[in-house]
Amino acid sequence: GKGAAMVTAVACRLVSQRKQIDEILASFELSKENLIEVKNKMRGELEYGLKKETHATATVKMLPTYVCGTPDGTEKGKFLALDLGGTNFRVLLVKIRSGRRKSVRMYNKIFAIPLEIMQGTGEELFDHIVQCIAEFLEYMGIKGACLPLGFTFSFPCRQASIDKGALVEWTKGFKATDCEGEDVVDMLREAIKRRNEFDLDIVAVVNDTVGTMMTCGYEDPNCEIGFIAGTGSNVCYMEEMKNIEIVEGTEGKMCINTEWGGFGDNGCIDSIRTKYDKEVDEGSLNPGKQRYEKMTSGMYLGEIVRQILIDLTKHGLLFRGQISESLRTRGIFETKFLSHIESDRLALLQVRRILQQLGLDSTCDDSIIVKEVCGAVSKRAAHLCGAGLAAIVEKKRENRNLEHLKITVGVDGTLYKLHPHFSGILRETVKEMAPQCDVTFMLSEDGSGKGAALITAVAKRLHNVGEN
Ligand code: BGC
Ligand code: MG
Repeated sequence: GKGAAMVTAVACRLVSQRKQIDEILASFELSKENLIEVKNKMRGELEYGLKKETHATATVKMLPTYVCGTPDGTEKGKFLALDLGGTNFRVLLVKIRSGRRKSVRMYNKIFAIPLEIMQGTGEELFDHIVQCIAEFLEYMGIKGACLPLGFTFSFPCRQASIDKGALVEWTKGFKATDCEGEDVVDMLREAIKRRNEFDLDIVAVVNDTVGTMMTCGYEDPNCEIGFIAGTGSNVCYMEEMKNIEIVEGTEGKMCINTEWGGFGDNGCIDSIRTKYDKEVDEGSLNPGKQRYEKMTSGMYLGEIVRQILIDLTKHGLLFRGQISESLRTRGIFETKFLSHIESDRLALLQVRRILQQLGLDSTCDDSIIVKEVCGAVSKRAAHLCGAGLAAIVEKKRENRNLEHLKITVGVDGTLYKLHPHFSGILRETVKEMAPQCDVTFMLSEDGSGKGAALITAVAKRLHNVGEN
């Protein structure tokens, strides 16, 4: 009778709703063929970046770092390090001891960088940095010391030596004016001069991936790759000099900062990008840029999730069809929320509580869907990074003409460290995509600080740069 017809109608609606949700989730699934294609394309872009004729226009920039070896344990001394471009801005004092009682001790202070400074003028940004350094020196009681300094600056820089780096372009949440094309070491020196309170000996400018590789290399000489899966996404690795056409010389190796976040900026992975990726890109500070980074890093994964949830709500599939003010707010889903929501130990009721904290009123069904959406987005990110890393380790294996390569990757970043599934899926993917490589992942302990100090120590020993 009538009742049965109504039940059937409701059931049909539920089935069709589920189908719509599944279709969206399926657009984030990458088949083995997809991943092989990503790996092969990444490999092609790595080669473009290394070649003289194509380097200038390559989307994977392959920037020489002038770091030519990993530490050997003889590094020692007291150093300052700055870490700009990750989740926090930090100033550090690093004490390195060599010999039998080899050790690294660190003291650091975290400073906030307000949004209006991240996106103000370059002068304001560097004045703020120097203000933080001054506070730190004061706090540590070392204002007159003039220590050698390593500057971890986690953005693409074109380097002509270890202590020079012109910012190519801002990424992530930064957009300070008058910096692109300028030397970041010069900008820092000028800000120190403007303040006229203390002097520093700036020895090295370092990408966070390189700092991470060096930190792990201090413990494990097999570590020749550095990987960040955090606010941003990037990889560096030791490349044969003879393959780096834009740097003079053919002997030995140099670390290359790949800046793989720009992979896909020429449209080469558009077939796997979804309309949600396009929306995230268009709403970002750098539309059209860093397309791979926007599919794989902490700063953007929550934004992809938010775009999907908006779409589901518009179609009446979520939140009773009501798009709330908070759902409209950019940046509400930070990495720590995704990590929390996807945690296996979490009951659905707790998922609902997290959503509640974000101002999202959910039913039990809603919370299941939100969790599925988060899972689909973070899994794709891990798959993509895994395929990218497979391209790098395979290149290193072929460089050395080996049947089998054993290699260590130094890793850092909030996504890798906090997310409950990202690292596992990533490792599985690398294994599947590069079966001839035996890859060990080594968590770096504060790569940005320790690594910058180690690089500074090596640079001081080798070249005595920065002394003036
Ligand atoms: C930057 C890289 C950096 C990465 C991780 C990216 O946005 O372009 O230089 O290594 O983020 O912090
Ligand atoms: Mg960092």
